[in-house]
Parts: sequence; structure tokens; C-alpha cells
Amino acid sequence: MSPQASYIEPAPIIDKENPFESMMERFDTAAKILGLDEGIYKYLKSPVKQVITSVPIFTDNGSIEVFEGYRVIHNDILGPSKGGIRYAPDITIDEMKALAAWMTWKCAIVNIPFGGAKGGIKCDPTKLSNTELEKLTRRFTANMLDVFGPERDIPAPDMNTNEQTMAWIMDTYSMHSKRNVTAVVTGKPMILGGSQGRREATGRGVMIVSIAAMQKLRIKPTEATAIVQGFGNVGSIAAQLLQEHGVKIIALSDVNSAIYNNEGLNVNEVIDYVGKKKTLTNFPKAEKITNAELLELECDLLVPAAKEDQITSKNAKKLKCKIIAEGANGPTTAKADPVLQEKGILVIPDILANAGGVTVSYFEWVQDRMGFFWTLNRVNTRLDRMMNEAFVNVYKVAAQYNVSLRIGAYILAIDKVAKTLKIRGIYA
Ligand code: NAD
Repeated sequence: MSPQASYIEPAPIIDKENPFESMMERFDTAAKILGLDEGIYKYLKSPVKQVITSVPIFTDNGSIEVFEGYRVIHNDILGPSKGGIRYAPDITIDEMKALAAWMTWKCAIVNIPFGGAKGGIKCDPTKLSNTELEKLTRRFTANMLDVFGPERDIPAPDMNTNEQTMAWIMDTYSMHSKRNVTAVVTGKPMILGGSQGRREATGRGVMIVSIAAMQKLRIKPTEATAIVQGFGNVGSIAAQLLQEHGVKIIALSDVNSAIYNNEGLNVNEVIDYVGKKKTLTNFPKAEKITNAELLELECDLLVPAAKEDQITSKNAKKLKCKIIAEGANGPTTAKADPVLQEKGILVIPDILANAGGVTVSYFEWVQDRMGFFWTLNRVNTRLDRMMNEAFVNVYKVAAQYNVSLRIGAYILAIDKVAKTLKIRGIYA
């Protein structure tokens, strides 16, 4: 859908197939429906801060190599900014800007007091030793001392970064602060102040909103079937927890294979199998199908939890599910949206469906600041409440404006940030 208002600029083109472009397009659609004031639109479209820094290190062979590091803070109206740090050879500042905006909307939807940010270092981590990665992370953190901070900007793991990366950031920041500052990052190892339940949080959130959507459509979980594309952190946990709620998981896939059993797959057995073989290929008690066939099977719930651009205008018309819960970021292209809506498929958008991870990151930050750690049960109960509330709020807004849950989610988020901005006003 193309926006009409003259002040709405076209979304930045990052690359031909980039899902973030789709995200910006949906932002424009929601801004138009909301009748967003022109000045506020301009404010929300521009990141508040963009930092590009050179990160020099001595490599293992003693030579100096210089990398480019980025941090974009899209918005900090609701609170300190939150977002991942990724290491990849092809990252760009435009991609960081779009991903940072994505985080602003995600945090607003689940009602956590954070703004949005994203950052990274342009590098090929597969070509760097552990020592080089540590030096890179520590020097990047030192360059970002005025940006990062538990009350300012809080990084988390993202593509090619992990708990160890967060531990190095936390340690470097703490050394400069002359005290332990655990709340400067989330996604830390448990021993350093990480939270119970963080690893499972995104998959758990996907399960929670999927069950909530089934209730809306009067589908009993114990009579429902589901298909999960992608069997990594998000997909495997979502499948496991859905099965615990009585949902029959009839098909699963990873990058190598897709497996199908109309009688239902035992997800725990599949997890054990993948733990040993590192792939779903040749899993017994299942038929082999293609990834394209998997998406088009008849089912109640489809969970794309692999990567972006999986449901497109080409295959959307062939889908036979009733609900899609987007575990991955950007699995549906903007062009597929109207096709799915026409077919009456209820799509729980990524910015809601996979927000369980950032919600438990928020819990981690709260626990670090209190110095008091919650039980797994407390983490899960609170996650359940917040995801359900977010689902209900998005559903209400979508019904009020007669739009999809996706546009409803953007309207909810943009309205919240815009109202907060109006109350705060523009400084000086
Ligand atoms: P992961 O690397 O643990 O798992 C990805 C899975 O997808 C693997 O099983 C892989 O084999 C499979 N896969 C890759 N390409 C595929 C293809 N073409 N067809 C089928 N399967 C394919 O990653 P993850 O952490 O589970 O993340 C998955 C998605 O969820 C990503 O889009 C990520 O951005 C998003 N996400 C993750 C989190 C989180 O907390 N991990 C939070 C929010 C969003």
C-alpha cells in the first residue's frame, strides 16, 4: 500500500530483497491511518543518534587491522535504547537504522520502557580468532563508552554474537566504570547476571500468542495442528511448548530438510536427534518433503521461524493455514500481506510474535539493577502476562481501525511513542 500524504517519504531502499524496506512501508501505512502529525512523522522516521567508529586491533600475526563499527539509536523517548550487536561482513548503516526502528516499535508493543537501537561491526567473524574477536569487542566497547550504559543504551546478542561477546562488553564497560555494571548488556551468561528463561523466551512468546490467537478463532489447542519452519532456538522451543499444550506438530524443517508426519512428530525426540546429528535429515518416523511443500500443507498454525522473505506474493495464495505466528523477523513480504488478508489468515506479526526475547531481556535488566534474581517460574509467569496483554492490545487496535494485526501493531506502537513525545515536548 503506498502512502498518500505528501510529507511521507518513500522507505529507504537497503537492498532489493530486504525485509526492512517492507517494515518501513508498513510504518508509513500505519502513520497515514493514524493521521500522524507531519513534524512527529519526521521525528519518528529519523534516528536520534548514529555513531560510526573505527575499531583498530593488533591481529594474531602482529599487523594492525581496522574495522568499522556502528551504533544507531533510533529513539529513546520511552527509556534507554535496546538492541542487538551483530558481526557480519555486509552490514550497513542503513540496515542498522531500519533494525533500530524495528526495536523501538517492538518494545512499545510489549510495553517495556525501552527505546530502539542496533549496532554491529563490519567483519567476517569466521576469519577471526577468539583472541581477535575479544580485542575487537573490547575496543568497540571502549569507543562506545559514551553511548552504552544501563540508563542510556543496552546492547544484546544478535547475528554472530553471543553470551561471551556480552560478557566482554560488560567487563570492558565495568573496568572503565571502576565497578561491576551488569545491567549494561542483556543476554549475558547466568553466572554474570543473566536471567532464567532468556534462551527460551522468544519461542515461549511465540507459543503464548499462538494459543491466544487460537482462542480468538475458537480453535482448541488439543485439536489443532501446527507446522514450524526453522528448527533453531526459536522454532524448536516454540514447537516443544506448543506440543506441551496439546498441539499436534505435523511438519518441521531446517536449512537442509523438511519432515512430515500426519500422526504428529514427537518434538522432544526430534530435539534429541538434531542434538546428535545436527540436522533433521533422515529423522525416522517421518516422511521427507520439501521446504516449499511444508509451507503449503493444511494446518491450523504455521510458524515461520527461520529467516526473512519466506512467505511472498508467489506462495501466499497457496497457504492452507488459519494462523501465522511470525517467529522470524520479516518472514512475510509486504506484497504477501494483502493476499493473506484476502484469504482470511490471521497473521501475528513479528514485532509482536517474537517480542518474548526482548521482554525477558528487560527482566534481566530489572533483575541486574535490583541485584535480586527471579525463579524461572516468576520469569515465565510475567512473560505470559505481558505477551497476552500485548496480544489483546494489538487485537483491539486492529479491530478499532479495521486493519490487520500487523498494521494494528504498528499503529499501537507509533501512537504510544508519539503521545509520549508530545507530553515530553521538544527540548530547547
Ligand atoms: P537459529 O540460527 O537458532 O535457527 C535458525 C533455523 O532456521 C535453523 O534450524 C536453520 O537450519 C533454519 N533455516 C535456515 N534457513 C532455512 C530455510 N531456508 N528453510 C528452512 N529452515 C531454515 O536462529 P534463531 O535464533 O532461532 O532465529 C530464527 C529467526 O528468529 C531469525 O529471523 C531471528 O532474527 C528471529 N528472532 C530470534 C530471536 C531470538 O531470541 N533467538 C528473537 C527475535 C527474533
